[in-house]
Amino acid sequence: MTLAELEPVNVDEQYRLLIGGDWVAAESGTYEIVNPNTTQVIGHAPEASITQVNDAAAAAKAALPGWRDTPMAERCAMIGRAADLLEQKLGGLVGLVQGETGATINVSESIQITSCADRFRHYETPVNVDEPIEPYPVAENPLGPGGLSCAHVIRQPVGVVACITSYNFPLVNMSGKIAPALAMGNTLVIKPAPQDPLAVIKMGEIIEEAGFPPGVINIITGSGAVAGAALVESRDVDMISFTGSSAVGAKIMQAGGSTMKRLLMELGGKGACVLTDDCNVDGAVGAIASVWGFHSGQICTAPTRVIVHRSRYDELVDKLTAVAGMLKLGDPLDRETIVGPVITELHRDRVEHFIASGVADGATLLCGGRRPDLPGYFVEPTLLADCTSDMRVVQREIFGPVVVVLAHDDDDHAVELANDSDYGLFSYVFAGTTARAFEIGKRIESGNVGLNSMAPHIHAPFGGFKMSGVGRDRGVYGLHAYSEVQALSWMSS
Ligand code: NAD
Repeated sequence: MTLAELEPVNVDEQYRLLIGGDWVAAESGTYEIVNPNTTQVIGHAPEASITQVNDAAAAAKAALPGWRDTPMAERCAMIGRAADLLEQKLGGLVGLVQGETGATINVSESIQITSCADRFRHYETPVNVDEPIEPYPVAENPLGPGGLSCAHVIRQPVGVVACITSYNFPLVNMSGKIAPALAMGNTLVIKPAPQDPLAVIKMGEIIEEAGFPPGVINIITGSGAVAGAALVESRDVDMISFTGSSAVGAKIMQAGGSTMKRLLMELGGKGACVLTDDCNVDGAVGAIASVWGFHSGQICTAPTRVIVHRSRYDELVDKLTAVAGMLKLGDPLDRETIVGPVITELHRDRVEHFIASGVADGATLLCGGRRPDLPGYFVEPTLLADCTSDMRVVQREIFGPVVVVLAHDDDDHAVELANDSDYGLFSYVFAGTTARAFEIGKRIESGNVGLNSMAPHIHAPFGGFKMSGVGRDRGVYGLHAYSEVQALSWMSS
């Protein structure tokens, strides 16, 4: 697609909520969505009332029996149709998702858009999720004649799932929840992030064309925490599938406890990136530079916390500093641009505050850290060296284009530093051999560890240790996440 072919964004478009199969105006009006590059209003999002949030949950509950009893093959066929439609039509949303997220045009076209259809495609084929259990001979006893004790373990949908997502990849994050949850027979209320919900609403229109019955998918949006909090409180909602910060995740766990919500929590990260003395530094530099170039570091799996062997320290920071200087920052619509803005003024200020705290705590600012003279919410690619584990910039998730570097003395020390974190989502090891990386990777407290590579396996379980989350999704693990296990047992004589 050329830039000239981008669908223009209609600022006056009326976006609506989807409740029980009807597209309806929000009862509490609308709020402005701001383009992080231009700081101009790009559209107005619906502000759902609490009544509408509850109506959406009730509609999902009403649609549950019909959808749950629809054979999995039919449900998956509909998901396949949705994948076809997304492949055909989602390209029309590049301009909108680019405008509301501020992602560069290259990131917008690729990750923001094309991986959505893939997330549906992964669940277009029915999978047997039932689990066999060995029969167990029972001798005659005072309670019965004995026989062969048999059981069949099946997976049932959890029920109504509220999908609440973060702002960084609005379409992809939501697609990754919708497809497995629907395949398992759940019905949904989806609530995208306040900052950039417009493309998700438009994606809902596309998905609906696949023929999902009314009420199976409902869409709610709102400017603050109110709509999400109401879903967490709702007795009609059985499960919260959440992607967002660990702080909000903890609030949801507390609030959801009183109604015993099932939870899938995909939370924050502070990815350790261990470099051994024999590693290929150039390979690691490419991965680490993605913190700057890939959506300005607004990605939970980024290798932001670099732990390099002292013997390779200077080589690494020299190469990283050189790369940072080559990354073009500015207009995300320029195809040469690598570093676009972060999502809001508030978030830009937060990232800047972290950088200042790193310097105050004794880190060396090797590059970046200044505010570019541009209207949007930009942060320069920033490299903080001479860091120690007690610094806030090392312990806290910054979610911006900021890399911190620590030195280690040997593999044990590297593992100790990597594990000195509340987070454990995605970490990386770069070592001279994959075998050595594998041995170190096993010792890192992290749900995923990339070995000499950043590429995750698309069917591997994804999720976090510690404050990075609860549960796993992707592949068959996604089906498991959205199911309850039921055992049916009988005695065979
Ligand atoms: P956030 O936690 O501020 O918001 C996430 C969602 O929670 C939004 O939809 C928001 O409206 C909603 N929310 C806020 N308060 C709520 C409440 N009390 N009850 C219910 N819902 C509430 O996160 P963000 O700033 O949008 O996203 C950045 C965070 O997301 C980072 O921490 C990042 O690491 C994380 N993230 C994690 C993954 C993952 O897969 N682990 C993926 C992407 C982003």
